[in-house]
Amino acid sequence: MTAPQQHKYLLTEDEMPTSWYNLIPDLPAPPPPPLHPATHEPIGPEALAPLFPMALIEQEVSAERYIPIPEAVQDIYRLWRPSPLFRARNLERALGTPARIYYKYEGVSPAGSHKPNTSVPQVYYNVQEGVRRITTETGAGQWGTALAFACSLFGVECEIWQVGASYDQKPYRRLMMEAFGGLVHRSPSALTESGKAILATDEHHPGSLGIAISEAVEVAAQDPTTRYALGSVLNHVLLHQTVIGEEALLQLAKAGEDRIDLVVGCTGGGSNFAGLSFPILREKLAGRFDPEIRAVEPASCPTLTRGTYAYDFGDTAGLTPLMKMHTLGHSFVPDPIHAGGLRYHGMSPLISHVYELGLMTAKAVPQTECFEAGVLFARTEGILPAPEPTHALAETIREARQCAETGEEKVIVTALCGHGHFDLAAYDAYLNGRMVDEETPDERFAPSLAELPTI
Ligand SMILES: *Cc1c(COP(=O)(O)O)cnc(C)c1O
Repeated sequence: MTAPQQHKYLLTEDEMPTSWYNLIPDLPAPPPPPLHPATHEPIGPEALAPLFPMALIEQEVSAERYIPIPEAVQDIYRLWRPSPLFRARNLERALGTPARIYYKYEGVSPAGSHKPNTSVPQVYYNVQEGVRRITTETGAGQWGTALAFACSLFGVECEIWQVGASYDQKPYRRLMMEAFGGLVHRSPSALTESGKAILATDEHHPGSLGIAISEAVEVAAQDPTTRYALGSVLNHVLLHQTVIGEEALLQLAKAGEDRIDLVVGCTGGGSNFAGLSFPILREKLAGRFDPEIRAVEPASCPTLTRGTYAYDFGDTAGLTPLMKMHTLGHSFVPDPIHAGGLRYHGMSPLISHVYELGLMTAKAVPQTECFEAGVLFARTEGILPAPEPTHALAETIREARQCAETGEEKVIVTALCGHGHFDLAAYDAYLNGRMVDEETPDERFAPSLAELPTI
């Protein structure tokens, strides 16, 4: 009898990483600093103090390679971590590919995505510094759910501005946030000056992440016991997600792999992609592996592949510091595609920098191809993916099909960063022939790119 084929590679709780990995000290050049929105001078940590607790600001600018994960955070991580690494044997078979496809699955978390990896430490550090209420924005609702979950564990109030279009279309996400004790507002709202300004132009404005960020930031900046939390983009968020890649490296070793040829992840603000790929990039920079690291973004919100690398605001109203990043312009309102978590006008400054250094590549994929990949994945591997990681799956499938032609036995690792149980309306649109790919001529991006601040 031959040994049964192994599908998943698991770690025990005591094999869970005890530090986060900070890529910055290993890069050949440091990323450009954030600038003050009015003076355009580099800002010091104190400029962020009205919004974030000091511990997170220190992590944002840290030059330490490893930052210990507090015991209390490790204890909560153990509710779902270490997460499984699967070998997609059924998908490989369906594609007839000699490639070996691995996916790191973060849908096992209480919120169903990778987001609690950062919401838990963020709330922990806020509580340490006496914060009583945390505000945030959410697009599809995954970040709001993850933050409301973490706030409920620590007994902190959570107030969430949800992008109008998804508030209207995704009542179940809102109910999940409310079940965890979150207070949810449709954005733009009449509760903030930023929201009122947008509502004056259109009473039923569908909102955007940029607008919702303006609202949450405005409220936090006005109250000394309230802080703001961001679910992606910033260095400390990417840092917290590196538990994903650290675990994946141990699991790939258990699977007997001594090389990685391709790492693929979807990018909205870049956190799940960085979480998987930064520890692998460390190994690449050290000469231990030589994979191509590839980000995949939606064709209708292509920040890396078609945006400009420039200083821009993180929000629509221009309240945040200026960050040098790949951006379509802070006034860009993406089409209402189904991958709500990928509809952000900018890209993490750290990922933008890594991209500029030539250490990674990027591609844009239209949404119908993504859902086709998502359905094939569900029918072979049994997990219905969130719309966001279907972008990474579409690219993985393209590569695996190419391997079927060339005979290459590529080792492909991808981030399956969440399940799609709350995204069935999107699958309905796809399965019933109502999903379209929007045209994206350059004129679509020109007006917002013309509004980039001049530095
Ligand atoms: C939030 C989210 C994303 C997009 O955010 P990143 O910071 O780019 O990871 C992607 N997938 C899922 C499942 C999400 O919840």
